Amino acid sequence: MDLSRYQPGPPEQELARLADAVGGAAGELRALASRMRAVVGEEEAAVVEAHLELLRDPALLDPVRDAVADGEPAAPAWQRQVTGLNEQLAALSDAYQRDRARDVTEVGGRVLRRLVDQGEDARPDGAGDSTGGEPAVLVLDDLDVGTAATLDGAGVAGVVTLRGGATGHGVLVARARGFPVITGAGQDADVPDGTLLAVDARRQQLHVGPDEPTWRRLAELRESRRQRREQALAAAREPGRTADGVRVAVEANLGTVAEAGPAVAAGADGCGLLRTEVLFAGWRQTPTVAEQVQQLTVVAEALQGRPLTVRTWDVGGDKPLPFLPVPVAANPFLGVRGLRVFREAPGPLVDQLEAVCRVAARYPVRVLVPMVTTRAEVEWTLARLDEAAGRLPGGRPDGLEVGVMLEVPGAALRVAELSAGLDFVSIGSNDLTQYLLAAERGNPALAELADHADPAVLRLVRTVCQEVPDPVQVALCGDAASDPALAALLVGLGVRELSATAATVPDVKAVLRRSALPELEALARRAGQAGSAAEVRQLLEPLRD
Ligand code: PEP
Ligand code: MG
Repeated sequence: MDLSRYQPGPPEQELARLADAVGGAAGELRALASRMRAVVGEEEAAVVEAHLELLRDPALLDPVRDAVADGEPAAPAWQRQVTGLNEQLAALSDAYQRDRARDVTEVGGRVLRRLVDQGEDARPDGAGDSTGGEPAVLVLDDLDVGTAATLDGAGVAGVVTLRGGATGHGVLVARARGFPVITGAGQDADVPDGTLLAVDARRQQLHVGPDEPTWRRLAELRESRRQRREQALAAAREPGRTADGVRVAVEANLGTVAEAGPAVAAGADGCGLLRTEVLFAGWRQTPTVAEQVQQLTVVAEALQGRPLTVRTWDVGGDKPLPFLPVPVAANPFLGVRGLRVFREAPGPLVDQLEAVCRVAARYPVRVLVPMVTTRAEVEWTLARLDEAAGRLPGGRPDGLEVGVMLEVPGAALRVAELSAGLDFVSIGSNDLTQYLLAAERGNPALAELADHADPAVLRLVRTVCQEVPDPVQVALCGDAASDPALAALLVGLGVRELSATAATVPDVKAVLRRSALPELEALARRAGQAGSAAEVRQLLEPLRD
């Protein structure tokens, strides 16, 4: 931000100005958090709460206050501190910390705008009005949460970021609000105001200044997608099955209580993955067994008799939990995360398993364990489950099903020994892809490489489906299941249970309804022999609209 017109006063006035700007920004964030809670959901509101925490962080504030007290004007002192912290975080190898750099930039910008007296008006919030009522495409360097949460639904036709990965918090919020988003479009998208742009977010394609025939083709595509979506929504409550009647459960991934009702309305046949580390992300203290039972019960009730798959704490990697700290590691994704966190101190895991058992005594519940690598870990987990169930008068509830996630390639390769005696396995295609291709999942520089449509990933999914012992069921709950065409291909590979984001459940069911299993199997064979993810995507084109 240009500070050349900033008029500094004496130190005490600058200190007061700094306090006002920080207090004002905190007020904006509190209002934003409550708006997010009402409009988007608890998880996204928690991101804004994290920004508020940053504003209370002495590591950010104290050096600025000291510099201002020593005579430096508030605005440049603040800008210097924010830039320094941002650079430190951006240089770290951990994707989660790099995302925090974006948070620091956002919070820093909010305070700086107030310092130079522009307040909220300088934000691109509500953009789209500039064209006199015509919806506009918003092009930004990166999309922060505040902007994403306040995008004007009528005015913004789509959002394009020049840089920034596909998994930034702002991008997730905008997508959850239903805006088409293209990320990392690069300098091609850095166009003057008023340039005609067309956004095909499903294919991540941006058309700059499309000619008349392209424009017409895209308009037709949009109309046909609108009609398809309407049909998909109308039929979403029918059970998932292929055109030739093969039953495929299409469930929803959940992270918050608020998502459960809409997931059922979108036709989810249950919840195939409840990320408990997200459900309790805002908690400072470990929730007690009773508190966990209470939260899980609310989700189970909302599912109205449909199965609820509760995943045990998947902490570590890019998912910190304040009440379950994990050791710092050079490669957190390859370190102590998921089940591994509890080897030395299993208490919190056993408590969680007890809560799951208590809920399973009254509702259809399955328990799912993340980051399992060996059979010994499976045995160890089953022993912890027995220990937890022993605390209930009736012992382990009859209906409780037990499964493990297949995210580690070694675990997937030995699925036969690993899963014997279990009820199900659930392929975590997000982590499986990053580990199989050695390409970190949140790293924008590796986005092309870390593609879950890579033929190597598909071959491993096929191996799992072929080698899993009877009667263990194979589910898939990674993001691959949220791409309707790819989800259908997974059915061709042998997967019979998919868990997707709630919004895509109707589309996944719709693609399955118009595809017969032998066609999907043939498609899957060709995809397994393809040379690249791009070739696989080419094969999927006929399944798309
Ligand atoms: C996965 O790894 O595919 C998965 C579903 O787990 P998460 O995305 O929570 O790591
Ligand atoms: Mg995972």
